[in-house]
Amino acid sequence: MPKEILLQVSPETAADTALLKANISKKMNLATADIAHVVIVKRSIDARQKSVKINLKVNVYVNGESFETHKIKLPEYKDVAEKQAVIVVGAGPAGLFAALQLIELGLRPIVVERGKDVRGRRRDLKAINRDHIVNEDSNYCFGEGGAGTYSDGKLYTRSKKRGDVTRILELLVAFGANPDILVDAHPHIGTNKLPQIIEDIREKIKEFGGQVLFDTRVVDILLKNNEVQGVLTQNGDVIEANKLILATGHSARDVFEMLHAKDILIEAKPFALGVRAEHPQALIDQIQYSCDYRGAFLPPAPYSIVKQVNGRGMYSFCMCPGGVIAPCATSPGEVVTNGWSPSKRDQATANSGIVVELKLEDFKPFAKYGPLAGMAFQKSIEQKAWHVAGGSFDNLESQNSQCVPAQKMIDFTKGKVSAEIPKTSYVPGTTSVELGAVFPGFLTQILRQGFTDFGKSMKGYLTNEAVLHGPESRTSSPVRIPRDSVTLEHLQIKGLYPCGEGAGYAGGIISAAIDGEKCALMVAAALK
Ligand code: FAD
Repeated sequence: MPKEILLQVSPETAADTALLKANISKKMNLATADIAHVVIVKRSIDARQKSVKINLKVNVYVNGESFETHKIKLPEYKDVAEKQAVIVVGAGPAGLFAALQLIELGLRPIVVERGKDVRGRRRDLKAINRDHIVNEDSNYCFGEGGAGTYSDGKLYTRSKKRGDVTRILELLVAFGANPDILVDAHPHIGTNKLPQIIEDIREKIKEFGGQVLFDTRVVDILLKNNEVQGVLTQNGDVIEANKLILATGHSARDVFEMLHAKDILIEAKPFALGVRAEHPQALIDQIQYSCDYRGAFLPPAPYSIVKQVNGRGMYSFCMCPGGVIAPCATSPGEVVTNGWSPSKRDQATANSGIVVELKLEDFKPFAKYGPLAGMAFQKSIEQKAWHVAGGSFDNLESQNSQCVPAQKMIDFTKGKVSAEIPKTSYVPGTTSVELGAVFPGFLTQILRQGFTDFGKSMKGYLTNEAVLHGPESRTSSPVRIPRDSVTLEHLQIKGLYPCGEGAGYAGGIISAAIDGEKCALMVAAALK
């Protein structure tokens, strides 16, 4: 049996096996030559001290001790081509992991996705960045892999069930992700690595008899006596099945509208909204690691910050070290920001959503939209931001604008329009405005106070070197689709399984994948 020990070492030692063995030999009072293998099982960064340390949990094997590398394998899928069909709408993490789980359970998933496959999608991302053209079915939120495909690929979650999280991480490793994600306290994959993993998942679904349909938008759910019969696509095709996992994400406004129009129960749900802040990464490194230069062995520093301001939480969201701000609108006439990073997180800037929690009462001015009030509130801010940054329907150029309103951070806290905005990572461009014009007064006030407070607890954070881009508005779904807490079936509609982030049951890649698996398990249980 290997001996498990805890170590706290320098970043250089953590990265070098010989130095690590020397450190362990001292700690265990063993000759270095007697240490056969060292396996890191947990790794985290401790930046609380003057010099940053790496905390490691390692398994130490001495000579003669049996040692096997544990190769993570996929489950033994069996062919489901002739088995009962289950429709899965949406090929995001919820939909894809639901489909894999259905195959494992001997059911045949038909995955229906409005967007393009992960490679075809790239052309549309180029078009939105370069030509400001938003394809309403293929963009940063829609298309194979879902909203997180072209992201930082952060894989941490607040989910308490470690077993579920480990299962998803192991499946990702079996599909080609770096096994380090099983070890790191804050694992991430990166936008350059995720597409291949997504493609391999899709090919596996097809290999075992599932179907994956692209460019196929579901426009209606077919019902008889409040029971699912199938779905109708935008081409007029009907796909029949009486079990439907609806995993369409937080941006499928047409899906929420369709459900509401059919009197299918949905509810307004609070979410969070704010701006995306961009700092030089070197500045964040200096703040977080308390040093002038982070050196060769530490990764670009992340940050996480939360404050209570006027009785509301204001916090960093989806922070991307060494990343880029992305244009995430899903319709023309609106602007939305979010962020991504490559696996090495090696871009010069760090960006993060800085958002304020909203309450249902904030949606009162949109009460006429009923359960879609939060969505209407969200849309109104995205449209206002588009307009304030120069978008207008007067001519083609301004109609297609994806410029976002921007302001330097200190200028924002003082309500002063920045004399100029330096070039930021947001490719379509920025327009210097007073960002307060985009948000309701209460929100502007909280954001102003919050940035001032952040600057007090994170010295150097409040600076005019940072540029705020607005809005960060797609933090989670503005709608919940209610379901039974045990069977996960919709409260009214038999055979409908609201799933993932769009339905209000997940808040990131991992939790969406977990929810996809859970829905598949409940579908199988109902069919027994
Ligand atoms: P989605 O991923 O939104 O997938 C829904 C799918 O349904 C989409 O592919 C969509 O095209 C499809 N669809 C919608 N309507 C229809 C229809 N009518 N017919 C057919 N198909 C339809 N999370 C993290 O955990 N870590 C990160 O680092 C991270 N970074 C992000 C960066 C960006 C730029 C964005 C936009 C999001 C990021 N997220 C991140 C959030 C994460 O992507 C989501 O939480 C997650 O993808 C939700 O999964 P889902 O399967 O529930 O929905």
